[in-house]
Amino acid sequence: MNKVLVVIAAHPDDEVLGCGGTIARLAREGYSVHILFMGDGETSRIDIIEKPDLSRQKKRYAAALRACKILGCDSIKQLDFPDNRMDSVPLLDVVKAIEVFINTHQPSIVLTHHSGDVNIDHCVVHDAVIVACRPQPDSFVRELLFFETPSSTEWNSPDNGKPFYPNWFVDISTTMDLKFQALSAYQDELRPFPHPRSLKVIESLAVWRGATAGVNAAEAFILGRKLV
Ligand SMILES: [Zn+2]
Repeated sequence: MNKVLVVIAAHPDDEVLGCGGTIARLAREGYSVHILFMGDGETSRIDIIEKPDLSRQKKRYAAALRACKILGCDSIKQLDFPDNRMDSVPLLDVVKAIEVFINTHQPSIVLTHHSGDVNIDHCVVHDAVIVACRPQPDSFVRELLFFETPSSTEWNSPDNGKPFYPNWFVDISTTMDLKFQALSAYQDELRPFPHPRSLKVIESLAVWRGATAGVNAAEAFILGRKLV
């Protein structure tokens, strides 16, 4: 089994919010870690017709580089799918881009978004990863996990039929500090309490997920598939 972890995230910051402690822990345990961002996470916030401004994208990408270095990642790659408009792209195009990344790094573990988030890009990425990681006989992927993203997973309607009921917990007691160091790189994405992307809420969630599993701090996932 390759000791390779791949994280497929819609936007820079999702990887730290959802699984930063897990990334740091697996990197420490000898996994090589590669992160794919499908978009810049900024374009939808900018009026690109009236005020073309690339500085925000550059700043966000620089934050991603800093965060991923703190977590111990080996590489990051950012694609240019339309921010918060990924539902405007044929799913097959997203799948093919992810397949290239998967085939390049040959991961045994893949982490990606939960299917029921309020953010449309998260949902599209989830669906595309499911297709890209389908268990063909020559598949590298042995473990497929879906993370929660504060300010997206808990903000969807209960009527969407896709609640986040975690059944997989990673103890991040020893890497929680690295998760918070990495979050500090994304200062522009953090908000004051009681926003879900406030430091207090992010820490509270880690403590609650930890308590659920009997440890000081944890990140929670839904297991998509595990081959042993
Ligand atoms: Zn996101």
